[in-house]
Amino acid sequence: MRAVIAGGSIAGLLAAKVLSRWYAEVVVLDRDQLPLDAVHRKGVPQSRHAHGLLARGHQTIEKLVPGFRAEMLRRGAVANDLHNDVLWYNEGRLLKRAPSDLTGLLAGRPLIESVLRTMVAQVGNITFRPSTPVDGLIADGDRLTGVRINGERLDADLVVDATGRSNRGPTWLRELGYDAAPEDEVRAGIFYSTREYERIPGDADFTGVISGHYPGNPLGTGTGANDGDRWLVTLVGLDDNPPPAEPGAFEEYAAQLDGPELYKLISQATPLTDPVRFRIGPSVRRRYEKVRLPEGFIASGDSLCCFNPAYGQGMTIAALAAEHLGELLAAGGDQLTRRYFAGMNKRIETAWTMSVSNDLRFDQTVGKQPLTSRLLVSYLSRLYKATEHDVVVGRRFLEVANLLATPPALLKPSIVLRVLRNS
Ligand SMILES: Cc1cc2nc3c(=O)[nH]c(=O)nc-3n(C[C@H](O)[C@H](O)[C@H](O)COP(=O)(O)OP(=O)(O)OC[C@H]3O[C@@H](n4cnc5c(N)ncnc54)[C@H](O)[C@@H]3O)c2cc1C
Repeated sequence: MRAVIAGGSIAGLLAAKVLSRWYAEVVVLDRDQLPLDAVHRKGVPQSRHAHGLLARGHQTIEKLVPGFRAEMLRRGAVANDLHNDVLWYNEGRLLKRAPSDLTGLLAGRPLIESVLRTMVAQVGNITFRPSTPVDGLIADGDRLTGVRINGERLDADLVVDATGRSNRGPTWLRELGYDAAPEDEVRAGIFYSTREYERIPGDADFTGVISGHYPGNPLGTGTGANDGDRWLVTLVGLDDNPPPAEPGAFEEYAAQLDGPELYKLISQATPLTDPVRFRIGPSVRRRYEKVRLPEGFIASGDSLCCFNPAYGQGMTIAALAAEHLGELLAAGGDQLTRRYFAGMNKRIETAWTMSVSNDLRFDQTVGKQPLTSRLLVSYLSRLYKATEHDVVVGRRFLEVANLLATPPALLKPSIVLRVLRNS
């Protein structure tokens, strides 16, 4: 039995690791060369920008690839306490810091991928074929039997589309005569701009700054201490006032953030790079659970659902997809395709609602509002106020933001009482 994975990035690597337990052979195909070193590459243009790994993603990856955290730390990732070491600004409210067991891991996207690829490459029945783009799928009746590469056929019993935002799956399925899956799409018009600075011991009493953009201040940041003694500073803004890509203007833009800490830090730190800007595409959720599909087709990571990255959910959802695949295979793998997409629909729902609910607060955002989102947003404004003083409410918020708990956890009577008392 052979599983073939199109795309050897985060989603593809995690799927490969899981599938190696159930398939005699796993082949990972990528159109890029796949260096083992922590370097930027063409197929992952987002890698220059901050990539926060949510606590749920961190835990799930460790479960799927044991030793991941230790290897990341050995190669320079920064360990942090998500409650005590990070400045979280929500609607201008600074969440009160407190020691916790919410452990995070800060590193650049290239290091995360490099560590995963190095560890996954050690699994005996996984092979990588770099510089090998997948051109299409091959089916026999309603079952996939392989993929097309370089005009040749590679037999497969299972095919995972992990081609990221370039998202080849729908085209391949249409070529086989399947209807396109409906898509939910939200266009938030987000820009990122990122600059690296030298990090020297004692230059800050925090390891990260996360400031969400909201209508009262549409500028945000995801900043973290990173491997290589660097600060990776990503500024977030909307397309009518995008974060600048010019040195100097970049720092001045940061002065408009809620909270003075980041501006103070970067106006004194030594820049290591010029800023680089990135236009974020729409958030798209492909509803494969609603259409007929050939058995043996799986989509994971950004090719299944890509989010506004400001909420840091993409890698975590890729990890949850791999975990779900493993659980289904452990239970016998019956009707794998149908059951996989049905299960992923549930796993994606919370993350999707949380991210598009905030995006849809901006008049310029185009998309459909989930039913629960208006209520959630107005309650959250009160909750953020409470987090300035109440570490129990703050902790619960962090659990939800890190996908360790679902939003109803914020509506438990004990939390609602604290919110009412403190807001
Ligand atoms: C600016 C930005 C910032 C982000 N920040 C965060 C963050 O803070 N936290 C977080 O969790 N997520 C973040 N994300 C999302 C995160 O990058 C992705 O969710 C994550 O990398 C998983 O992606 P993937 O493996 O599905 O696809 P990708 O990483 O995009 O990789 C797709 C792979 O498919 C290959 N490929 C494409 N077409 C073919 C083909 N035809 N045949 C073979 N191979 C092919 C490509 O070469 C590439 O290797 C961010 C995204 C962006 C754009």
